[in-house]
Amino acid sequence: MSAIQIPLSASMEITRRASELNRQGKEVFTLSIGDTHFSPPAPVREKMNHLPQAYSHYTSGDGIPELRKLVADHYGNYEAAQVIVVPGLKQGLFYLMTVIEAQRVLVLEPAWLGYETIISICGKTPVSVNMKKSDWKEQIANTHFDIVLVCNPNNPDGRLFSEEELEFIRRQAEKQNAWIISDEIYDRYIYSGDTPSMQSIDNYSKLVRCAGLSKSHAMTGFRIGFLLSRDTILMRNLSAINQNTATCTPAISQYLALEFENSLPEVQTFRDYYAENLKETLKIFPEWEAFKPQGGFYFFVDLSIYGISDAEKFSSELLENAFVAIVPGSAYGKGFDSWVRISISLDREKLTKALLLLKSFINQYKP
Ligand code: PLP
Repeated sequence: MSAIQIPLSASMEITRRASELNRQGKEVFTLSIGDTHFSPPAPVREKMNHLPQAYSHYTSGDGIPELRKLVADHYGNYEAAQVIVVPGLKQGLFYLMTVIEAQRVLVLEPAWLGYETIISICGKTPVSVNMKKSDWKEQIANTHFDIVLVCNPNNPDGRLFSEEELEFIRRQAEKQNAWIISDEIYDRYIYSGDTPSMQSIDNYSKLVRCAGLSKSHAMTGFRIGFLLSRDTILMRNLSAINQNTATCTPAISQYLALEFENSLPEVQTFRDYYAENLKETLKIFPEWEAFKPQGGFYFFVDLSIYGISDAEKFSSELLENAFVAIVPGSAYGKGFDSWVRISISLDREKLTKALLLLKSFINQYKP
């Protein structure tokens, strides 16, 4: 028997090639990864200097009670028992795809490349709808699914779902008795001033809210994710799978995560910085106004506006010749071969340099 083939993450692969070029002494601009350039907020950094020894042991599998309570209160209408702390949301999504007995998982594309891989590894079937098509509602209404993944704001295109759109998705899920998995990992990066209204779905019994500190608190390496659900059977099963695979989320990370709320004012400054990056990007590429994200920290751009149809070829040539790493759109779903994802979560000076390099590369590019 041979091992199963698990596809490598496209963005990781590009980042690997970018690091290789870096090692060869090239100055590479990495606009391909989903990480912030900030250090964790001061309350977290301060606490890191005074870590008690007690946090070198296992914790309760579901997470330390103070943290679960903090998260439950923060999201409102939840109790501590309805929160489980997981070692990163990616792992949390694996748990969900493992314990929910269902086959067809609806992915709203363009979608984070992790979804399809996780769904497939867990033996489920991804079914997709192209959200860039004007008939996406009709497509959803005509698709059979048991779970729908809603990323809000969405990676890669920064789409923020309106209350009316969420209400529509909820009605469709209800009709099919399907689960809604609401991925809110980018919820601190919203540029319109609004927070997504969860009112229309938050009382849905088969809802799982997913969050974490990776993006908001610049803590990707600490591996802190949260799953919130009012379904007691689901929570029991999530608890069992977490206990049997990870035992618990690293104790030190959980302890630092207790600074979650104290850090929010600094988290707001991260958002403001990227809001400024967004404006700077539009100064260099005014034609990207049509692709302006409402949230997250990426631009998802259709290069066909420049007559470029093969974004994979373009991205690879851009990296090899101009040393700028971006991710081709094919990683985010079917029908996005001419699109690319460009991360703006960088130091502004670096970002500006990289965007100017990209601009001159596009100007001289002959497809
Ligand atoms: N969900 C989305 C949409 C993401 O972009 C990511 C990471 O890139 C994750 C979930 C996983 O986050 P983590 O495992 O770092 O908590």
